[in-house]
Amino acid sequence: MEWFERRVESTVREFRMFSKDDRILVAVSGGKDSLALWQALVRLGYNADGFHINLGIGEYSEISEMVCRSFSTRIGRPLHVINLAEEIASIPELKQKEKRPACSLCGTLKRYYMNRKAKELGYKVIATGHNLDDESAVLFSNVMGWDLDYLRRQYPVLDEEGGFVRKVKPLCKMTEKENALYAFLSGMEYVEDECPFAEGATSISYKKLLAQLEEESPGTKLRFYLEFLRKVRPLLVEEENKSLGVCRVCGEPSSSEVCAVCRLKERVSL
Ligand code: SF4
Ligand code: ZN
Repeated sequence: MEWFERRVESTVREFRMFSKDDRILVAVSGGKDSLALWQALVRLGYNADGFHINLGIGEYSEISEMVCRSFSTRIGRPLHVINLAEEIASIPELKQKEKRPACSLCGTLKRYYMNRKAKELGYKVIATGHNLDDESAVLFSNVMGWDLDYLRRQYPVLDEEGGFVRKVKPLCKMTEKENALYAFLSGMEYVEDECPFAEGATSISYKKLLAQLEEESPGTKLRFYLEFLRKVRPLLVEEENKSLGVCRVCGEPSSSEVCAVCRLKERVSL
């Protein structure tokens, strides 16, 4: 556990994510990664509170919220909770109305409300529990499509800019296994079931491929990810200089006149 926490701390320092004076909002789903992150930050003396979005996905969401609430009591830090059904509509409702994959809607909405609430509540940084397996699988898939915009944005720190709160991934060097072990050793209660919509996500096949490579040559994942950050990403960043505008309706950052969530809200309310 000490090793884990030291490694989290050195990652925070290496990428200059935040300091002990910053108020940090940790996005928690109820799974092991985000709860491990929250606990490690608190134990390291950071000023970190939790934020949970109830997605309205039946029993899965009910249990997730309960687990987050009891974890918040256990570590003695406040948890902010919002309910998607009250803000706009639940994920299953939206999926049906929009005829779009649940995960793409869910990703947009999570990003939007996380940013909005962090600003409202006065937090300077949003921390998420993305691990090395997530980051290297996403990198793999973006490399397969040579998606330069996505590749450019793939960094453990996204600075505060144009209405976006700073976003960080302090577990980007920890594998899923290491997070699970830390959670287990802490006697943590977390949600083991996957979201019912998680099946069939394309990242799963990339994760499998990388796991196979890792087995044959340990360290592959970490090298793949870190060498990208060190050698390739700086080249991509150099040529980027795009600035975002703000949504005419809600004032959140957006690349179009009315942001994706406000357009969605309008369609849903028809
Ligand atoms: Fe949202 Fe998809 Fe993750 Fe479920 S699997 S929580 S729908 S992004
Ligand atoms: Zn908007």
